Amino acid sequence: MQHDKENIMVILSSPSGVGKTTLTKKIQQKYKNFKISVSHTTRTPRSNEVDGVDYHFVSKEKFKELISNGKFYEYAKIFENYYGTLKSIVDETIRENDILFDIDWQGTKQLSKFKNLNLIKIYLITDKEELKSRLIKRNQNTDEEVKKRFDSFDEDIKHWNDYDYIIINQNLENCFRQIENIIEVNKTKNFSFQKTQ
Ligand code: 5GP
Repeated sequence: MQHDKENIMVILSSPSGVGKTTLTKKIQQKYKNFKISVSHTTRTPRSNEVDGVDYHFVSKEKFKELISNGKFYEYAKIFENYYGTLKSIVDETIRENDILFDIDWQGTKQLSKFKNLNLIKIYLITDKEELKSRLIKRNQNTDEEVKKRFDSFDEDIKHWNDYDYIIINQNLENCFRQIENIIEVNKTKNFSFQKTQ
């Protein structure tokens, strides 16, 4: 993968329902150079989701074809659906922009194998009961889906150790400020590293 050393890749992972989508949007609003990586998925779109903006929604057949042709940097099966990050999109975007990934721990593990990437891995966590009420309030999933997402919490948090930063999401603003600090420290570090090379 060819990319400008100054650009960074930030992974934001969390158990489903912790507030990642709101945070990724806030980051993108503040840092105009950040592009959110739009994943491919076989999940059906929610009523508020737009194809090509929230995800590239594809059939299972199409997704399997992309896997066979080695098109993904990483992919995972999550809640019976496939999700993946296409190499071509990342390679193109990183030339001009920083990238924000909203992917799970399985994808993070796979991306981490590419040692040439400027990856900054952030894990967001919240209280389990708080998460349950968020999932129900969100009202975008069936009862069965809420249960599946809630049940995956324990497995998901086992992987916190694979990340560079852990943030406890008690308050969205506070959490956003911590992410701002992480981005700014890493952008500065990268810039001075490049200047002294
Ligand atoms: P949702 O169905 O709620 O949009 O996403 C479910 C989970 O899939 C979230 O934890 C999200 O981070 C993860 N996810 C979304 N896109 C990708 C991807 O491209 N790769 C991986 N590994 N996980 C993804």
